[in-house]
Amino acid sequence: MSRQITSVVGGAPVAGGDGHADVNPSDLADVVLEYGAVDAAAARAALESAAEALPAWSRTTPWQRSEVLDRAGSEVLARADELGDLLAREEGKTLPEARGEVVRAGQILKYFAGAVLQPHGHVLDSVRPGIEVTVTREPIGVVSVITPWNFPIAIPAWKIAPALAFGNTVVFKPAELVPGSAWELVDILNRAGLPAGALNLVLGRGSVVGPVLTTDPLVNGVTFTGSVGTGRGILDASAPLGRKVQLELGGKNPLVVVDDADIDIAVECLVQGGFGSTGQRCTASSIAVVTDGIHDRFVEAVRARLSRWTVGDARGAGVDMGPVVDPSQLAQDLRYLDVARGEGAEVVGGDVLDLGTAGHYMAPALVLGTTATHTINREEVFGPVVSFIRVANYDEALAAANASTMNLSAGVCTTDLATAAHFRRNSKAGMVMVNLPTAGVDFHVPFGGRGESSHGPREQGFAAIDFFTTSKTAYTAPGSPRT
Ligand code: ADP
Repeated sequence: MSRQITSVVGGAPVAGGDGHADVNPSDLADVVLEYGAVDAAAARAALESAAEALPAWSRTTPWQRSEVLDRAGSEVLARADELGDLLAREEGKTLPEARGEVVRAGQILKYFAGAVLQPHGHVLDSVRPGIEVTVTREPIGVVSVITPWNFPIAIPAWKIAPALAFGNTVVFKPAELVPGSAWELVDILNRAGLPAGALNLVLGRGSVVGPVLTTDPLVNGVTFTGSVGTGRGILDASAPLGRKVQLELGGKNPLVVVDDADIDIAVECLVQGGFGSTGQRCTASSIAVVTDGIHDRFVEAVRARLSRWTVGDARGAGVDMGPVVDPSQLAQDLRYLDVARGEGAEVVGGDVLDLGTAGHYMAPALVLGTTATHTINREEVFGPVVSFIRVANYDEALAAANASTMNLSAGVCTTDLATAAHFRRNSKAGMVMVNLPTAGVDFHVPFGGRGESSHGPREQGFAAIDFFTTSKTAYTAPGSPRT
């Protein structure tokens, strides 16, 4: 029998009903662990538990909260190999990628352990004589954290750590496909010294527990990362109720390659950005916008690089790219390739691979001869698929790059300082990369997009305080002023 895990409410395990198997996408015969999905009543109980824990947790000192996060961060870092192996096994990214993600989660916990000790308020003289004004930060209250499967520990960490750091309590609902990494993170934080109920784990279906976690009166804020459709639904349901809502949704991220680019750098940017983590990143470089003078040489160089790109078991040695996460994502990737063919594009690669073990393996795909209006350039595929748009010059490249409505990240490969500076200023994306892949960000600076990509305050780094606190402006007049 495989390992069993449960939801955690008020510090205690809660067994669910409906049994779910956490299956390894590299080897479908390998069941990583099993859990029982909980129902709406358990989600409500988790919110009650978070609400009960809120007054005491929000009154702890910053040092107490810092110590919990710091201890948790140390344990995550110390167990990076083991947790990375679990993550690779349940999600399918390669071991180096998975270990890197775990280390990132540890760094995030450490960052917020430090951040909470920084000064966050203001003291000002009023514009009226003798009055003092203070602007302080207070927790927003009970926060629902809803996360996707593609970063099973880093995304939860970058939402839960600032939530707890600034005195909120949390109900955390991870994606159904990756409960193991989520359970470990919650276990580590609880053992690091959180009081019961400050952090609750709800393992359940989005359609069952999601509506409770987004619309129940006990919820003060919802931070969500996932698909555009689900995110919009959450916003439509929660915003009229006055909930604070933060959404990180899709991305359609262009990498512009102009004639003067260093071709080796550009190839690495595209291959790492487009096919790293099997292309299953909201910041993936999913469109290459390439000027005429370098287009054919660039495509050839990318093809040559991909001929040395090994697809295999996520935990295998020397593997560059693991499997697609599950059958429905694989079907979606293949469907987009069919649509592209139907609209006149040429697809190179993208075959389903039989590697001898039952797993969702797919070769990287290049989709050549597309324009900004092709379906594949307007919708997020979320797989190892990069489409190419050939343009005459930089101005056309910028226009094609800005044609997307999901402006999360955009990159340019150029050796010309003026082109780099122009792109940085004129890209519509929330994050811009120069001679770097569109994916791959730091934890101490804001993360987020524009257009349909994001809603609400930015996540991560020094921006995180904006969502996870609400500001209070207080005016104090001395009782009887002395002159
Ligand atoms: P993905 O393609 O990354 O799975 P989803 O938007 O479907 O994107 O899922 C992201 C998260 O949202 C998951 O944890 C999922 O269970 C959850 N979810 C799905 N439906 C809802 C809903 N109606 N309300 C709240 N959360 C939901």
